[in-house]
Order: sequence, then structure tokens, then C-alpha cells
Amino acid sequence: MSEAISEALVELAKRRGFFFQSSGAYGGVSGFYTYGPQGASLKENVEDAWRDRFAVKEGHMEIDAPTVMPEPVFEASGHLDGFDDMLVECPECAESHRADHLIEDNTDIEEAESIPLSEVEDLIAEHDLVCPDCGTELAGEPVEDFNLMFETNIGPGTSQPGYLRPETAQGIFVEFPRLKEYARNQLPFGVTQVGRAYRNEISPRNSIIRVREFTQAELEHFIDPEEDEPPLSRVEDVEVRLYPAAEQEADDGDYVETTVGEAVAEGIVTSDWVAYYLGVGQRWYDRIGVDMDRFRFRQHLSGERAHYAADCWDAEAEIDGDWFELTGFAYRSDYDLSKHGEHSDESFTLFKQYDEPKTVERATVDPDMSYLGPEFGGAAGDVADALERKAERDRSAFDGDEVTVEVDGDEHAVPVEQTGFAVEEVTEAGEHITPHVVEPSFGVDRVVYTVIAHAYREDEVDGEARSYLELDPEVAPTVVGVFPLMDKDGMDDRARELAAELREAGLEVTYDDSGAIGRRYRRQDEVGTPFCVTVDYETVEDGDGAETVTVRERDSTAQVRVPTDDLAETLTALRDGDRTFDELTAAADAD
Ligand code: AMP
Repeated sequence: MSEAISEALVELAKRRGFFFQSSGAYGGVSGFYTYGPQGASLKENVEDAWRDRFAVKEGHMEIDAPTVMPEPVFEASGHLDGFDDMLVECPECAESHRADHLIEDNTDIEEAESIPLSEVEDLIAEHDLVCPDCGTELAGEPVEDFNLMFETNIGPGTSQPGYLRPETAQGIFVEFPRLKEYARNQLPFGVTQVGRAYRNEISPRNSIIRVREFTQAELEHFIDPEEDEPPLSRVEDVEVRLYPAAEQEADDGDYVETTVGEAVAEGIVTSDWVAYYLGVGQRWYDRIGVDMDRFRFRQHLSGERAHYAADCWDAEAEIDGDWFELTGFAYRSDYDLSKHGEHSDESFTLFKQYDEPKTVERATVDPDMSYLGPEFGGAAGDVADALERKAERDRSAFDGDEVTVEVDGDEHAVPVEQTGFAVEEVTEAGEHITPHVVEPSFGVDRVVYTVIAHAYREDEVDGEARSYLELDPEVAPTVVGVFPLMDKDGMDDRARELAAELREAGLEVTYDDSGAIGRRYRRQDEVGTPFCVTVDYETVEDGDGAETVTVRERDSTAQVRVPTDDLAETLTALRDGDRTFDELTAAADAD
């Protein structure tokens, strides 16, 4: 696809009501987009298809959490300290830029996000990088971390800072103590959420690909890493195009075309759970019309991956020669739940019952406070806690006459006889475990953009250039356009009636009687409406036979006469793929 077509898409999106920059009456603001009627409908259809696959068919529950959350949530999650991008400001025009993007755009270096700040400053100087807006040299300018969260105040005053959530996931993690009850305290279980997320991107770009307010569809699947296995057999034959880290780093690196089952057997994808969702994801993207020749799963390079993430793959799509991340598939271990467990007063663990009760040895302490008090003063309580933790973790430390514990960086020696150390046998029915999390995280806006870009076609009809969207009927904003051939002689009344009947039957219908019929077809082609129904003179003339209309197919522009008495069923079958247009034509020819 050429640049020109990408520009044509943005123009089409605005003209036909898919999406456009918001608040245009006030000059517009970068990184915020409004979906028009066509776009809102397409986006909703994509979200419905996602829910159908990742919530309903997988048997997971969906929640809907607030978009503003208090500061402690993001202290625990690590976003307050670490959710940063690299910012470099132009000394001349004061425009802000993402330093890693400048490097990627102007050198052969890929994934510059993982390079340390000081090296990024050196690279800017080494490659003589300039401000893309005014051309001023950026060498010597500081590169700084910029936190992407939007901050706000909850209530009057500044005593309770809050943040717009930068991902929907935290809304699921913080509610885990309650969600586990709904799952009857049994693993595995999954929770999904489709909703808005906010990131104060340094330089939003590529229309709805990188925006400041966007929609995520996320699944957090909570598992017991020792027991739970995914139903891999359901997807083992799914063919995938993988781009492993080793291939990205090799000079002659290439894609690995394989199946999910093989990828697991050969250890290319190390987590069975991640592999399972790659398979489910591949099928889903194919279903909604993403071009599988312009789609791949790219493994994160080691520097890109969060330290707690065991394995991470991104679903990526190609548009205009660039690859974009659509989905992150990550094995997040017990990181998120452990952090919220440490920072809050709630329990983020689950009680896992053993098959049979187990008798285990347990080391305990019962320190003599009348000794610890005078000896350690204000630190006595902390010393007692430290002794308890030491007994649990390292009972051999109590073998000698003294045991040493650390409190706030100071070491304290305590005679073992004052600690009340003992080892006793206890029978336990189970243990508390922190579940691990597998997370497929989809960016809905990027999926919508890709679906439109991959569906964009140009051809010629009756000697005239035409552009159309070859959208799958499941996601197309409108399934049927209904037109009277002319706005008179009863054709308009009958067409309106038919449109209402088709709507009652559950089809998304547009009625259009303005302009020449050819222009009306083009309008529907441009928004990807798969079928158009035209009421003509033959429809309204009194004939002996059944009443008929023409049905036109968008891609081939072929037309066929169809009786109106079962028109809704016919169009529903075409939409659902239960019938093809060729079958309809063949049936009409046979009559
Ligand atoms: P991340 O948590 O960064 O892996 O993001 C998860 C998904 O959200 C990505 O795969 C993207 O599809 C989407 N996403 C992230 N940032 C943006 C953005 N600024 N604009 C639109 N979509 C985004």
C-alpha cells in the first residue's frame, strides 16, 4: 500500500464518518479522535466480535471498572515510577519528541525504547538528529523520562490525587479479592474488560494508531502455574507466522512459518498459555478481516520485556510498509497480584486445597519481649517480626547460640534462647498461592484502523474509478443499503417499508434516496456495505408472480433478482456466511 492510499484512508474516514480529530471547532487537539456514525458502528462490531471470542466462547466473565483510580493503585502497579517515555525538546521551537522514535525513524536501530537514556543522548549526537518540525540540531539536548499518566484531583483540593488509568488491566487486578469469590475461589478463571485507557503520549501520530485516549480489550487469565494447562489441542493446528527474538537479532533472520503445536513442541513459544492465546488470536484476526499476509507475531527482545514477564509476543500488522503492535500477549507471572498484596490490606492469594492433608514441620518463634524491649528499644517490635520471617525462611540460622536479623539496614544479634524458637508438626489442608496471570491486551482503535486499511480496494466499474472497503459483514457498519430506483411512483414508499422490515429482522440497514443510483452504490461501497437492495418499477408493478427486488453484491457489483417474501432470511444467510452470493445467482438462474 502506498503513502497515498494511507492518506486516502484518512480522507475517506473523515468524509464518510469513520473517525476524525475531535474538537475541530476549537482548532482540534492532537491525540483525540471522535468516531463518526460509520466508525462507531464498526468499532462496536469489532468489540462485540472480541467479546464473543474472548469472553463468551472462552467462558470468562466481563467487568466494567472506573477509568479514574487513586494514586496508591499506581504506586503498587509501578506506573507512577516507571511508566515513562523518552522526551527530548527542541531548543528552538519547543516541540516535544519521543527520542526513541527519532532514532528508529532516522537510523537502522529498531526497538530503541530499551536503550538507556544516556546512550540515547549519544546516539542523537552521533547521528546528527534534528527536530522534525523545524530542523534544529538536537545534539546536546537532555533526554528525560516523561510519565505518561494523566493526573487529576479527586474531589476539591489536592489531598487525593488520582490518575486516568493507562491500561484497563489495573481495574481487574485491584478487584481480585472480590472477583475470586465470584469464581468460587477456583482457578483457572479469566476476567475481561473493554474500556477506555489514557496515555499522555509525547507525540501522537498516525491518526488513531497512537492517540491519548483509546479503547483496550483486555483479558486477565488467572492460573495456578503448577496445575493448570490450556486446551492447546483446540488450536494446535492453527498456522502462525512467528518472528522470534533470535531471528530479529540475526543478520539473515526470517519468519518461522509453523503451527501453534509445533511452536510449543520446538520451544519457540515457551509458555503453553501464551501459545494458546496466539492461536485463538490468529483465528480471531482472520475472522474479522485482517489480511493474514500482512500479520505476524513478533517476540519481545529481552530489553523490551518487563523483568517479570517470562515470555511476550506482539500481534503486529503491516500498513504502508510499517508494522504496528495490535495486541500484546504476555505471561505476567504473579507480579501484579503480589504487588497489590504487598501495598494493600487485602488478600490477593487463593487457598489451594491439597488432595490429601499434609503434615509439615513449621518453625515458629515466641520472642521474650522483656528481653527484646530493653535491648532494642523502639526497634524491638521490628526485630520480633524479622525473627518470625527468618524462622519461616531459614531455620538453620537458629542452629547456633545467636541469630542475626536485619532491620532498616542495621544488623541485630539475638541469643537464640531468647527467641522462643521451636519446630512443630502441623497438619495443613492446603496453602495460599498467588495466581499467575496470562494477558492478551488488544488495542481496539488499532484493530479498527487495520481492518479498514486491509479492506481498502481500488478498481474500475463501467470505466469509472471506484474505491471500496471489502469489510467482512460481521464488522461492516451497515449490512444492507436499501434504495428506491426513483423517489416516486410508490417505489420510495415500498423501499421505506422494506428497510423497516429488514431492521425488524435484526439487520443494520441504511435507506438512501438521494442522487443517481450509481452514486448511491458508490457511497455504500466506500463504507463497506456488503449488499444493496433496489426497489424498481418491476417491484411495484402489478405482476402475476412474487414481488422481487435486485440485490447487488459490493465486491463483484453483480446483481440478482430476489423475491421479497424471504428477503430478510436471504440477507441474514449472506451476512452470516451460510449462503454465498454465487449460490443465490445460481438459484435465480435455475428458476
Ligand atoms: P501496551 O500495554 O503498551 O502493551 O498496550 C496494549 C495495547 O494497547 C497495544 O497493543 C496497542 O494496541 C494499544 N495501545 C497502546 N498505546 C496506544 C495508543 N497510544 N493509542 C492507541 N492504542 C494504543
